[in-house]
Amino acid sequence: MLPEASSLWLLRLLRDMQLAQFYRPILEELNVTRPEHFDFVRPEDLDSIGMGRPAQRRLAEALKRHRSGIKAKNWVYKILGGLAPEQKESPPCPDSSPCLHEPEGGLKCLIPEGAVCRGELLGSGCFGVVHRGLWTLPSGQSIPVAVKSLRVGPEGPVGTELGDFLREVSVMMKLDHPHVLRLHGLVLGQPLQMVMELAPLGSLHARLTAPAPTPPLPVSLLCLFLRQLAGAMAYLGSRGLVHRDLATRNLLLASPRTIKVADFGLVRPLGGARGRYVMGGPRPIPYAWCAPESLRQGAFSSASDVWMFGVTLWEMFSGGEEPWAGVPPYLILHRLEKDRARLPRPPLCSRALYSLALRCWAPHPADRPSFSSLEGLLQEARVSEGRCVREVTEPGALRMEPGDPITIIDGSPDAATWRGQNGRTFKAGSFPASAVALADSGSALTHPAHRGSPARRERCRGSPDGDREKSKFQELPPAQRRKEPLQRMRGISKSLESVLSLGPRPTGGGSSPPELRHTRASQGPPRPPDLPPRPLFVSSSSQPTQPHKVPPPWPREPSHNHRTGVPRASKATVPSGGPWSADPEWQGKIKEVELSVHGVTYQECQVALRAAGGDVASAVRSLKVEQLFHLSDLSRADCLRILQRHQWDLSAASRYVLARP
Ligand code: ATP
Repeated sequence: MLPEASSLWLLRLLRDMQLAQFYRPILEELNVTRPEHFDFVRPEDLDSIGMGRPAQRRLAEALKRHRSGIKAKNWVYKILGGLAPEQKESPPCPDSSPCLHEPEGGLKCLIPEGAVCRGELLGSGCFGVVHRGLWTLPSGQSIPVAVKSLRVGPEGPVGTELGDFLREVSVMMKLDHPHVLRLHGLVLGQPLQMVMELAPLGSLHARLTAPAPTPPLPVSLLCLFLRQLAGAMAYLGSRGLVHRDLATRNLLLASPRTIKVADFGLVRPLGGARGRYVMGGPRPIPYAWCAPESLRQGAFSSASDVWMFGVTLWEMFSGGEEPWAGVPPYLILHRLEKDRARLPRPPLCSRALYSLALRCWAPHPADRPSFSSLEGLLQEARVSEGRCVREVTEPGALRMEPGDPITIIDGSPDAATWRGQNGRTFKAGSFPASAVALADSGSALTHPAHRGSPARRERCRGSPDGDREKSKFQELPPAQRRKEPLQRMRGISKSLESVLSLGPRPTGGGSSPPELRHTRASQGPPRPPDLPPRPLFVSSSSQPTQPHKVPPPWPREPSHNHRTGVPRASKATVPSGGPWSADPEWQGKIKEVELSVHGVTYQECQVALRAAGGDVASAVRSLKVEQLFHLSDLSRADCLRILQRHQWDLSAASRYVLARP
């Protein structure tokens, strides 16, 4: 006879106490089917079915725990109900022996509180903290896990956080893919805990930004990760889910060569004929990763996940840089749509891959590739591997010695110079093609690394550094090389989001303190008058954040007025044309200023340069003073002093200003 669904709780409870042999006698001889029936069971009754007194004491304890857990269970199931009905109970075993169905690797189920012990803190997110842990299976075997505990306030978990937490549980329960983080089960304790597969090497973002002496990740490995990611995302799409928070911070390293997609707090089912999920209200979303339709209408789909995939690709090849750093959230949409701007090609990214990223950033969702086609496209765009056959010591060329493994980032059969990464030194640069023999000549030269369509890519404003570097040798040390085009943005060009994040973020791109999220949103820099309407959603540059405790004004408006005086000009106030406007030297200077204070507009740079009589350094300084001025309630003179004290590091100066009491 199979255990009845209504008495599975009893079977579980007894099984956890290693008393499963008493299941039938309790059920059939004592007629106990509900926990409260035990109120009427006397020790003698248990004696009569052969249960010893120590076992009875253990059972009494377990019952006590079970009954206190039931209260929690009621509200938990209220939320889980409808989300994962098929997961509420494991199906009974086909044979008559009292056992529960246990898939390999453990149950996706409720886990007794005592079976999990927590260790070192791994990180914290919006609604919980994550610890390393050890889960003891009923068999006695212990496995390392990660335990995410729901953060509980003095009055218990906040509704939305609880909902998000349980939604994450219910989504994860249904997933099973080699590159999707596995959920083992849920502990209905205080606090609620998710027991997940441990990714011992932490987040990919943390790895990408790890300081020296940790070597950068080889390009070939990044390409492998992209293929794994595309596979996992195709799987999620096939399950009718949209992730909505794809970013390197949410990719975990299960092993040095395996990533897993994690953080399913924002996952939603795709609904309707159009396969979209449209947000019903203001919730924080990771702005800089979002597709235009998500920013404008709150619309998410597999195609918007594909856009995010492109941004994640960019992060990977930029050494974990923050996308659109320095661009205020409300301007991102403007840049994407009006300026048709795109993130620039990172130096380690091949042209083929960048052109794929540009396809992921097609303005119309229907023009973006699907994840399943991306799997194939990534395979085509893979880098080639080779070996150095002669020493290269030419000045400016990537140094290599015979036998060095070389990854060819960009190279075509007819080019005399290729670009690649030396697998021994991790340095990247250009080198004579004749110095490297391809390991797999069939796939390499006959299928050159850049198969994408350069024409499309060059149209974009954030366009690749082009062929300039192809013609000359360039070698940069890995760290410098990884960051070079973004170096100038660093520190000064952090978006308002990150500028406002005081102190280092523990998990790289991790969440900011909740109290700052409100500050961020309400203290955004002033918005030039001719910009499009502010997008509907609360921004979160790095993470989806927990809801604002103070109801956010929606749509948000800047809390202070646009101040005048220094060149923070809107398009309307900037004179166009003029004697300098066509001068290439002048254009070059504008570009330089623009790159140095990332996030400022072309016009602002132009006005600042004019005010500074064409002096780039002083234009940069005046723009930084402006940035700080708009961020604080200090005078410009004070901002100037503070910036000087911080060696003109705007990020550091902003943190200082915002940390003041
Ligand atoms: P969110 O606020 O959206 O939940 P988050 O990803 O920062 O964002 P968590 O999912 O709570 O928050 O994770 C916090 C940190 O804990 C992560 O950044 C990661 O470094 C670490 N972490 C999470 N899950 C695991 C895991 N399974 N194995 C190893 N480390 C993990």
